[in-house]
Amino acid sequence: MEMRIGGKDVSSPDDAWIAVKNPATGEMIDRVPAGSDGDVAEAVGAAADALGLWKKKGMRERGIILFHAAEKVRQQHKDLARLLTMEQGKPLREAIDEVRGYANILEYYAGISAQPAGEAVRLGAVGDCLVVREPIGVCGAIIPWNMPVIIMGWKIGPALLAGNTMILKPASTTPLTNLRLAGILEDAGLPPGVLNVVTGRGGVVGEALVKHPEVKKISFTGNCSTGRRIRELASVHVKDLTLELGGSDPMIVMDDADIEKAVEGALRGRFYNAGQICTAVKRLYVQEKIADEFVQKLKARVNTLNVGNGLGPRTDMGPLNSAEQRERIAQMVDTTREHGDGTILTGGGILRGKAYEPGYFYHPTLVTDVAPDSCLVTEELFGPVLPVMAVPDLDAAIAAANTSRYGLGASVWTKNIHTARRVFDEVQAGIIWVNRHLTVPPEVPFGGMRESGIGRENGYHAVDQYSRIKTLFLGW
Ligand code: NDP
Repeated sequence: MEMRIGGKDVSSPDDAWIAVKNPATGEMIDRVPAGSDGDVAEAVGAAADALGLWKKKGMRERGIILFHAAEKVRQQHKDLARLLTMEQGKPLREAIDEVRGYANILEYYAGISAQPAGEAVRLGAVGDCLVVREPIGVCGAIIPWNMPVIIMGWKIGPALLAGNTMILKPASTTPLTNLRLAGILEDAGLPPGVLNVVTGRGGVVGEALVKHPEVKKISFTGNCSTGRRIRELASVHVKDLTLELGGSDPMIVMDDADIEKAVEGALRGRFYNAGQICTAVKRLYVQEKIADEFVQKLKARVNTLNVGNGLGPRTDMGPLNSAEQRERIAQMVDTTREHGDGTILTGGGILRGKAYEPGYFYHPTLVTDVAPDSCLVTEELFGPVLPVMAVPDLDAAIAAANTSRYGLGASVWTKNIHTARRVFDEVQAGIIWVNRHLTVPPEVPFGGMRESGIGRENGYHAVDQYSRIKTLFLGW
């Protein structure tokens, strides 16, 4: 596939390409141009040219285009989901969820497009003021490979509705569905240049985007160290930033919880998308009294997970997205084993054999008795491995939950409203779920505390974050 700049397909001028591989088979499924600084400059030019007309359209007119795009995505959702599974690895039904979730996001933003977006302040004899929001301008979105479709929606939905134009840089392992979705937006009436997709390496295309003086805002989702680098580069031109840098979400299960429900919550919270989700359950704290029963039930469920090619009809969990990701997870588990930092209850290794190789599969894994300073607890564990720790009471659970440098999400499983309230008040995280984990609807703001990042996506807050306030003072 080619890049999309100014409404045109753009090939690689110097014949530099990135192979996109199916992580379940290791086979190349397509290739995209390894874009350059020059491609970024061209895309920024196209976005700047498109800005004037796009921001003059009414918000409702922009919303209607998003709505039509959502309709087209729903019509094509099976093909899009299949492409997503092939490049990302997730089971087809999760890919369908994700594609439909993207349509939900566009519909949500279309739906709020008629809301008033300003205020009037009357100052008596001195004058009247109008406080309005205007688009920031040309924005850059740099997105990862774990949920490339949903995360594209989180960024383009509010940005385009607010009247900005955009350059999207997909992850190098998952650019294909993003390119298809950009084409669908154009088919739905998005003028050329309003959304441009430049493929290429993060260190080249990503950095060129962050450094470009005409790009006024960067919204990034990915690794913490990449986020720091982006913040540093963006500081030169004092750019607006939204950074979503992952998490190490704790799940707290109290002894009054509905155990069956909590087991299912942990299973889905950890192993959905092979554990490659920023708000996945990455640390599980269970109250001592029910720990054995809970762990045995969870182990039994983990062992039922069907691992395989995401296109398979019975697959519950696909491969990791790349060899590097699998290596990172394997190393963390091996280190834990070598240091005696935990007991591998089930899994704990690369899946080998004809059914799996040369794909990037890893056993769904449970580790118990995990030391608090184990890398499984202190690092972001971005794969199908769940460390489980027993805690005596709520105080200990809250203290343990707060030891992480991240603060994206957290959940508590209990029937006691006071327990839920304490977790909400005392655990440092941007979203606290009660008897649920992972769900992030477009209506509610999403983002982290601490090193999980800055800013919020979703909800009307996201539109605010893609606009700036301007005041008109009418003196009488
Ligand atoms: P990265 O942060 O490297 O990648 C995310 C995006 O940033 C990709 O589009 C990437 O491009 C781009 N990028 C990489 N380097 C730069 C740069 N210097 N300037 C601008 N953009 C850049 O994440 P990884 O793929 O390396 O994943 C590593 C770890 O990050 C995971 O194991 C996980 O812990 C965490 N992560 C968290 C996510 C989340 O949702 N919070 C999502 C993904 C990862 P390219 O693909 O070309 O490298």
